This record gives sequence, C-alpha cells and structure tokens, in this order.
Amino acid sequence: MAEIYDITIIGGGPAGMFAGFYSGLRTAKVQIIESLSQLGGQVSALYPEKYIHDVAGFAGIKAVELISQLDKQLRQLPVDVRLNETVTDLIQQDENGYKIVTNKETYLSKAVILATGVGAFSPRRLAVSGAQELENRRIFYTVAHPEQFRDKTVLIAGGGDSAIDTALMLQETAKHVYLMHRRTQFRGMEHSVELLQNSAVELLTPYLLKEITLDNDQLLLTMKEVKGEHLLQKRVDDVIVNYGFISNNKTIRQWQVQPSQEHRMFVVDRQMKTDLPLLYAIGDGVDYEGKLDLIATAFAEGPMAVSAIMKQLYPDRRGPLHSTSMDL
Ligand SMILES: Cc1cc2nc3c(=O)[nH]c(=O)nc-3n(C[C@H](O)[C@H](O)[C@H](O)COP(=O)(O)OP(=O)(O)OC[C@H]3O[C@@H](n4cnc5c(N)ncnc54)[C@H](O)[C@@H]3O)c2cc1C
Repeated sequence: MAEIYDITIIGGGPAGMFAGFYSGLRTAKVQIIESLSQLGGQVSALYPEKYIHDVAGFAGIKAVELISQLDKQLRQLPVDVRLNETVTDLIQQDENGYKIVTNKETYLSKAVILATGVGAFSPRRLAVSGAQELENRRIFYTVAHPEQFRDKTVLIAGGGDSAIDTALMLQETAKHVYLMHRRTQFRGMEHSVELLQNSAVELLTPYLLKEITLDNDQLLLTMKEVKGEHLLQKRVDDVIVNYGFISNNKTIRQWQVQPSQEHRMFVVDRQMKTDLPLLYAIGDGVDYEGKLDLIATAFAEGPMAVSAIMKQLYPDRRGPLHSTSMDL
C-alpha cells in the first residue's frame, strides 16, 4: 500500500498494454493489473493463431506475434505488470484517488483507466475432484515456460488450436506427450492437425478425464470413453488443460465505484473520461457514438486517456507530442 500510482490500468488486453506503454512514455508511475497469467486479453485467450489484417503497420500479423510486440514495447519502460490478479473492488478515496482491491493486494492510485474489455478472463477449469488442489503444481492452464516440462510425461486435455499447438511445442522438450480429446476429430486448423497426426504425440480419443490421484509422486489418470464404458489409465507427471477461457463482468458489477454504463459498457466523453473524477475507460468495455470494437480503436483511446490524466495530475509538466523526440 506504500506506493501511490499515478495511473492504474485494470485489464491487460491490447487497450491496457498500449495505454501502459504510453503512460510510461509520459513518465507516469503506472501499473497494469490483469486477471490472467498472460497479457493480451481476447487476442491471446481467444484467437492466438489467427492473422490480424487491420492493425496499422502490419500487412497481416499473427495475433500471438502482435501481443509479443506489444509486450516488447511495454517492457522498455518501468511499467509494473501484475498478472493473476483480479480487481475485486474499486473504491473512491476522495477527489484525488482510488483504492484498488485485488484478490491478492490493495493499491492506491491517483487515476484509474478501465481497460476491462469483455470482462475478466479465467480458464475453463477441469471439473474433476481433487483437481483444484493440484492447480499450478501438477495441473496447469497455460504454459509460460516449456522448459518446466523437460523430460516429463505430460497429458494435454483439449481439442482446439491451443491444445494442438501446446502438444506440438512440448513434444520437443517433454519425454512423452499425450493429447486427450472428447471427440475423435480435432477442431484445430487443418495444417496443425496434419502436423499433429505426423508427430510423436500420442492421441487419446474420445475420452474424458474421470479421476486424478496422486500416486508415488505421479498423477494416475483414469479416463472414460465418451458414449462408452471403456476405462483407460495413464501415469503422467503433469496435466495441461486447454479448454478455453470464460469472461465475466460479475466482479465489476460488485465494485463500490460504478461509473455510468449503458448495456454494461462504460459511458465516456471525448477524452475517454467516465462521469467520475480521474476515472477513464478505453477499449471494448466502453461506449460512445461511433465506437468500434477494434484493436486500432483501442490503441488510439489509450494515449487520449493518458494525456488527459497527465494534464490533470501535472498541469505544469508538458509531455512531448512525438515519440521521435525521445530517447528510449
Ligand atoms: C474471434 C475474434 C477475432 C477478432 N479479430 C479482430 C481483428 O481481426 N481485428 C481487430 O481489430 N479486432 C479483432 N477482434 C476484437 C479485438 O480482439 C478486441 O477489440 C480487443 O481485444 C479489445 O481489447 P481490450 O483490451 O479492450 O479488451 P480485451 O481484449 O477483452 O482485454 C481485457 C482484459 O481485461 C482483463 N480484465 C477484465 N476485468 C478484469 C478485472 N476485474 N481484473 C483484472 N483484469 C481484468 C481481462 O482478463 C482481459 O485480459 C476480434 C475478437 C474476436 C473475439
């Protein structure tokens, strides 16, 4: 609680990431709080393998690569990035600040930018008893460091692009990779499915996980055939679940601070300001006449909000208009 941020950005999607960078560029003391273990919002969670064609400066860029570039840009500056933290309450302190309560900490910030998009993302969890206690120890929902699975036997659950890509990626490092899916057909892109079928990944279909027990420091997995009775058992070191993500706005609706909303979108003025002091909103979570839910629009809204905030917080500090006059 000791530090007081100039700007706290809630949400680490494209809108929040670029606003974070721009705040750093304007030398604001800034943090980004993101509920997932990764940045990138919908782009990372929902369509990492798709090509995006309408982001300025790129004649087509893979979604995951766009986020990697945004991350690189962001890391040039001292921006505090807090992952795996969901803002559970936002409280207005006085005219000059907000208390931000997360599932882990409480922070103080003079201004807040809501970049919450379609709501806080969380992974669709494995509905098997005992799974929760093994989370982040033996059961994972994202792969941050493939090296952690080196020489291990891993089972990946899921049938979409993420599951297939994870399986193909880990076959390089892991000792053995199983890919379990509840259907015999995979939903991934044709090229990825073809690579999978020609890989060393062992496919287990159509099965669903029924039971997980920890046995001699290994996981004993019992799988049941879908629409059948056959049971299959495998011993593995770790399980990675790729069942996709769900988003919800429920936590936001429970905050003490509730700026004006229409159809659950924050209503903002031309500077991206809500009807509360020093509370701004950008990206897919906002509404104004002519609003487009696009990455290009979200990128433009960040600098507008940040500049308006800096003008209010530091009226005597004049920021440069062009980044070309700065040394990074
Ligand atoms: C399938 C698909 C394809 C698309 N293709 C394109 C395209 O080709 N071109 C294009 O321009 N746009 C495209 N879009 C739209 C684009 O992805 C969105 O406009 C963009 O992601 C909006 O960014 P954002 O940062 O506002 O929100 P989001 O990407 O939704 O990010 C919001 C982030 O805030 C976090 N968050 C929310 N609440 C909290 C909380 N309480 N605490 C902590 N964190 C929180 C969430 O976990 C999330 O990571 C596509 C969208 C979809 C679904």
